[in-house]
Amino acid sequence: MSKVLIIGAGGVGRVVTHKCAQAPEVFSEICLASRRKSSCDNIASELKRPIHTAEVDADNVAETVALLKDFQPDLVINVALPYQDLPIMDACLEAGVDYLDTANYEPRDEAKFEYKWQWAYQDRFREAGLIALLGCGFDPGVTNIFTAYARKHHFDRIDTLDIIDCNAGDHGQHFATNFNPEINIREVTANGRYWENGRWVETGPLEIHRTFEFPEGIGPREMYLMYHEEMESLSRNFPEIKRMRFWMTFSEQYLTHLRVLQNVGMTRIDPGVHNGVEIIPLQFLKTVLPDPGSLGKTTKGRTCIGIIADGEKGGERRVCYIYNICDHEKCYEETNSQAVSYTTGVPAMIGAMMMLTGKWRGKGVFNVEEFDPDPFMDELNRRGLPWTEVFLPEKPAPIAD
Ligand code: NDP
Repeated sequence: MSKVLIIGAGGVGRVVTHKCAQAPEVFSEICLASRRKSSCDNIASELKRPIHTAEVDADNVAETVALLKDFQPDLVINVALPYQDLPIMDACLEAGVDYLDTANYEPRDEAKFEYKWQWAYQDRFREAGLIALLGCGFDPGVTNIFTAYARKHHFDRIDTLDIIDCNAGDHGQHFATNFNPEINIREVTANGRYWENGRWVETGPLEIHRTFEFPEGIGPREMYLMYHEEMESLSRNFPEIKRMRFWMTFSEQYLTHLRVLQNVGMTRIDPGVHNGVEIIPLQFLKTVLPDPGSLGKTTKGRTCIGIIADGEKGGERRVCYIYNICDHEKCYEETNSQAVSYTTGVPAMIGAMMMLTGKWRGKGVFNVEEFDPDPFMDELNRRGLPWTEVFLPEKPAPIAD
């Protein structure tokens, strides 16, 4: 029986709130807070049980502390934007509350994300006797847990890891992003990077791409090598892994629109003056693009996110593929959200459950792969994200090099 404060009433916040509300045995009292209370009330009206709602500007530490002292939660689930990670962690320290998020901190003025800013809170959380769990969405999150699970049960040693994220859904729009457009476009237009023999190898943005045959009828899709944040913690926690890469699928249509937007300067994050008013082009673009939270109604198709690990067990080589397939329309039926928000929100709720039921405990700042993956993997099957594991005779050709 615990009280939880969810901050951020966007696409992911909607799913987290729905899923926490479905588990009253763990989340006995819920408060959803966001910059606009109306966003929270809108989500609250969809639920079968009452929750509290509140307005908070999470960039403002004092405001968040006041809310924490008033509601007195056992845990904060931060599903606002990566910019709010540090102020919310500061507020948790001041009010003595545990913390969980799904994306690592990013400064507003530079398209760059790194764990160093949040890992620097290690001593402060440890000394306060609190726990901060970082990156508990799908990727990062479940992909880290799949890796920890594979290592625990199937390998003495993992040599290579390929994380593969496919959204084979169609939302019927010319151009839209599956989660916050500003964060998504900053991520996709950045240089690629992968981990090899103890160092990062940099590539141009989306420079390396391969065609991968996705399972269970999804079929062939073009996937692009990108940098993704889970590789930073996985390379630290599994230093044996010689090469680690992250791949994401994009449609030709998405990439063509993105290229044009980039070419005309609409993805820039430095300010420009328009009619005497200073604007940041990417933030203006976000305003005119479809809200990802509104895409659920029209999105059809499935997502398939997983890992392919290659290594050794008992002196024999093994290749193991663990993945989840999630159907956009089923997610919408259950939570009024499409599968990208769903696959992020469900793991955030499960991570919170692990912390609040004492299955994952500790003092300090942690990434999810540092805990026992088994209870989390069980809950994935129970809470809407069942997974499949298959042993392959060899690494699939597109990632065999
Ligand atoms: P949205 O833009 O849909 O939602 C973010 C919400 O945060 C908005 O509704 C907004 O509230 C609220 N918000 C913004 N600024 C503040 C603030 N200063 N104080 C309080 N609330 C604020 O984004 P998503 O739901 O798509 O993404 C949420 C998070 O999940 C992001 O950090 C994203 O990077 C992460 N993510 C992680 C993934 C993973 O697999 N690990 C995958 C996808 C997303 P309001 O409506 O009230 O203005």
